Amino acid sequence: MLRGILLYLAHNQAMYKIVMSVALFRRMALRFVAGERLEEAVEVVRALNAKGIAASLDHLGENVSDAAATTKATADYIAALEAIASHKLHCGISVKLTQLGLDISDELTIENIRKVLDRARELGNIYVRIDMEASQYTARTIKIVHCLREQYGYTNVGTVIQSYLYRSEADIEALNASHIHVRLCKGAYREGSRVAFPFKPDSDANYVHLSHQLLSKGEYPSLATHDPKMIGAVLDYVGANEIDHSRFEFQMLYGIRRDEQERLASDGYNMRVYVPYGVDWYPYFMRRLAERPANLLFFVTGLVKG
Ligand SMILES: Cc1cc2nc3c(=O)[nH]c(=O)nc-3n(C[C@H](O)[C@H](O)[C@H](O)COP(=O)(O)OP(=O)(O)OC[C@H]3O[C@@H](n4cnc5c(N)ncnc54)[C@H](O)[C@@H]3O)c2cc1C
Repeated sequence: MLRGILLYLAHNQAMYKIVMSVALFRRMALRFVAGERLEEAVEVVRALNAKGIAASLDHLGENVSDAAATTKATADYIAALEAIASHKLHCGISVKLTQLGLDISDELTIENIRKVLDRARELGNIYVRIDMEASQYTARTIKIVHCLREQYGYTNVGTVIQSYLYRSEADIEALNASHIHVRLCKGAYREGSRVAFPFKPDSDANYVHLSHQLLSKGEYPSLATHDPKMIGAVLDYVGANEIDHSRFEFQMLYGIRRDEQERLASDGYNMRVYVPYGVDWYPYFMRRLAERPANLLFFVTGLVKG
């Protein structure tokens, strides 16, 4: 119920204006966000890399509804790619297609993402991950990723699958067949029971099932979770099936379970941290609050202390 309210508020314009205008909220959000500027995110990635942890930079923003703003978002991502190359970071980028025009047209989105992918390729095939957003975009996002891979021949692009959606097993089968890299996560949006498992234990069980599908037949899957049960299930499967550590990676979000990030990296697993930055942090921040009541408590305590 609380989760549903927070996810609803994540897309509420009035709440957006209130939260964005209060400096204290901004300070709270910075627990999950590397900073508002690219330079701050670069410093965070540099520190992660020094600990043997890779990263993926996310320039925050989504649901952009005018074409000029999509051009700006494209330029911002190209700037991130150039910073990755010039600082020699072990880092890719994560992009949301609604930031590049998915609410306007597929053609505009493809034009923008191709500019990003071309620059990423020129700079040494930097990896570009297409994040997965709410279920109304799933089919179009996957179709665009297949098109980028098969029609335009980009090898430096992959996407994300959410275990709460019923359709995900079939999507993974098709992505595996096309050798497209998949990041598996549980899913962070407000979805109805028509498309998604209404109960968490079912989407958790599906996460384990889909992780097996990816680890046995997928190409370098990324297991994105902070859940000790999911991580344990992956490690059990990998051990039982003698899957080499080099064939997959774990992923976590910036600011969440840092000890575990470092532990997995020092145990010899590939670990990548998703590093968001930028001024448009509101919906991302609200999704992080919705995921964990303890985060909300931390937030309210901060408000009370002023
Ligand atoms: C790298 C990465 C990329 C992602 N990309 C996408 C995307 O493209 N699309 C999308 O919809 N979602 C994305 N997500 C979000 C994801 O879908 C989940 O909403 C989010 O990861 C929370 O699920 P969880 O697996 O961590 O476990 P949860 O079910 O939220 O939590 C399970 C357990 O994990 C532990 N845990 C969780 N959070 C914390 C915390 N803050 N501190 C300590 N322990 C904690 C606790 O033990 C908790 O009981 C991404 C997540 C990651 C890590």
